[in-house]
This record gives sequence, C-alpha cells and structure tokens, in this order.
Amino acid sequence: MSKKYNFSAGPAILPDSVIKASAEAVANWDGTGLSLLEVSHRGAKFVSVLEEAMALTKELLGLPDNYKVLFLTGGASSQFYMTAMNLLDKNGKACYVDTGTWSTKAIKEAKLFGPTEVIASSKEQNFQYVPKGYEVPKDATYLHLTSNNTISGTQMHELPITNTPIVCDMSSDIFSRPIDIERYGLIYAGAQKNMGPAGTTLVIVREDMLGNVDREITSMLDYNTHIKKDSSFNTPPVFPIFVSMLTMRWIKSQGGVAAMAKHNEEKAAIIYNEIDRNSLFKGVAAKEDRSLMNVTFVATKEGIEKDFLAACEAAGCVGLKGHRSVGGFRASIYNAMSIEGVNTLAQVMQDFEKANA
Ligand SMILES: *Cc1c(COP(=O)(O)O)cnc(C)c1O
Repeated sequence: MSKKYNFSAGPAILPDSVIKASAEAVANWDGTGLSLLEVSHRGAKFVSVLEEAMALTKELLGLPDNYKVLFLTGGASSQFYMTAMNLLDKNGKACYVDTGTWSTKAIKEAKLFGPTEVIASSKEQNFQYVPKGYEVPKDATYLHLTSNNTISGTQMHELPITNTPIVCDMSSDIFSRPIDIERYGLIYAGAQKNMGPAGTTLVIVREDMLGNVDREITSMLDYNTHIKKDSSFNTPPVFPIFVSMLTMRWIKSQGGVAAMAKHNEEKAAIIYNEIDRNSLFKGVAAKEDRSLMNVTFVATKEGIEKDFLAACEAAGCVGLKGHRSVGGFRASIYNAMSIEGVNTLAQVMQDFEKANA
C-alpha cells in the first residue's frame, strides 16, 4: 500500500526519511549488530545521540548558553504541574491566558502550587480566537501561554507586550517557525505533534527561573536534577529522543525553522484559500488567529460529513475528523506534511463541491 497523507493531530506525521532511518536503527543500528532499543543509555553511542539532540535544539532555536535543554517523560501534561511546582510558590503569582482545552488543564494544575490568575480567556466563544490587548500584572512571576491551540485551530502570531518571562506550551508548533527566545523563561513541548513519537517532552528552561521557590521538590520532578545529569538521571526515553534527533537533522537539512515557517505558510494558505472559496465548508477559528498547524473547518450543509471523510480517505487523506469539542474537520499540517499532501486535500474539497453543492 502506498503511504497515506496523514493529517492526524497527534501522534502525527513524521518525514519519510526519519521513519526509514528509525526503522533501520531499530533493526540494526549503524551496522553494530544491535538494535537501538537494546543498548545502554550510558554507552558512548547513545550519549552522542542525546548530545546531538540538545545541540540541534540550541542551534535550530538559537538558544543562548543560559538556556538548558531537557528531554523528559510524562508528556506535555506533566509539564502543566512541573512548571508550577518548580516556578511558583505562595509568594509568587502565575498569570495564565486561557486559549483552549490544554491551557485550561494547565491552570487547574498551577492552582495547586500558588496564586494563579487567569488574565484573559476566549472560553466564552469556545476558544475560537486568541485574546489580545490584556495587561500582564507587573508582579507576575511568569505568564503562561499556549502558542498553538491544537484543538480549536488558533495560534498566537504575536506575543503580548510584557517584561514578564513567558512559560509556553509549544507542543503543537515547536520548530515550525523562529522564536524570540529572550522572551521566554521556559518552553515545553510533547514530541508527538511536530518532533517525534510520543514518549518524550522537550523542555527548554532559562537557568535563573529555577531555585526560587520555597518548597522541597522530589528529585524526578525537579528540573535541576535533570539539568545536572544531562537528562540521564534515570533511563531516558531512548527511542523518542533518537527519532526527535533525526527530525531535527531533517529540519536543519531543509534550511532550519525559517524555511519551515515559509513552507508552513504556503501549505496553510492552500487549505485556507480553499475553505474560504468552497461553498460547502467554512473555517472555525477567527481569521487573524488561524493556526498554520491545525486547520479547523466545518460543513455548511447538513449530512455531508461522513461522505466528505470517505472522499478524503479514498484519496489517501486520513486523520481529518475534527476533535469532538469542535466537530467538523481538522487538517493538521505539521512540518512534515508536503505541499503535495495539502494540494491533494484541496483537490478533494473541490471535487466534493462539484459533486455535492
Ligand atoms: C497534545 C497537547 C498536549 C498534551 O500532550 P501529552 O504529551 O499528551 O501530555 C498539551 N498541550 C498541547 C498544546 C497539545 O497539543
């Protein structure tokens, strides 16, 4: 069977070359006669993978030396509490912008660790836009943002004006565009959207953010533990780290995150133009906040959803069913999605309109 165009939100599409090289390394890693899965995480060969993954993260995102790179476990969901546990205590104040399901979960966890204020929210409109123009209190310890809202299909295209360090959930748009690193105190991203398989979470943290809370932190949940041991305090998730490293090599070979951004803008324009042109579909998210990663849209005519998904499937386009909280359709077009893939989907939409409008 030929490879399908995978529009799934996550676990999500990875570059073909990365999948192939990963499969080879699982079978016989670089001709060592051993699988990547059965060698010591403390051996020189795996240590060099971890080092390369960290170095590529720094290079691709332009991180200064005072930012540390970690590969942890527990998913982005564990970062909802780990950030607050490490950064917030009763003397501080965490400010959150509530832009979707994921930020709502992060807020719930932060409240367990110290004063937490929701300073802006788009909940009243089912998170279909990104709030703007709010004030960040001067005494905030950090401001938590979600750069891309995977479920509702909105993305933050500009950061708010503030000197407060930003803590950001970049799970679904990490490495999709350049970032202004100086604005961030901490960034986290689960691998399975735009970087690798599920099982590791990238954390980037500025050193001065740590060590300021009035509590003891259990070793595994303390960022400093993992910084001191270069993400190998315990056995790291070797396979997800390896695949993520290969994806970063691929991003670099394509011209880095600036080239990714250009490619992603082109792809998003193709799909959004078709949605706006096509009488059978309409976009969900506010136009100025549309995500370049997750394109959400619904049918304008009753009863055509199943047929449209079947038409997509027949053309090799899969994973397009929308999240249950939004309905309709969602085309996730992460870094590894090709122009050919989005053109195929746009063509299906055109053909479907001709047959059903
Ligand atoms: C998927 C996702 C999460 C949750 O990630 P897990 O690794 O499953 O815990 C959190 N935030 C965003 C923005 C996501 O897209």
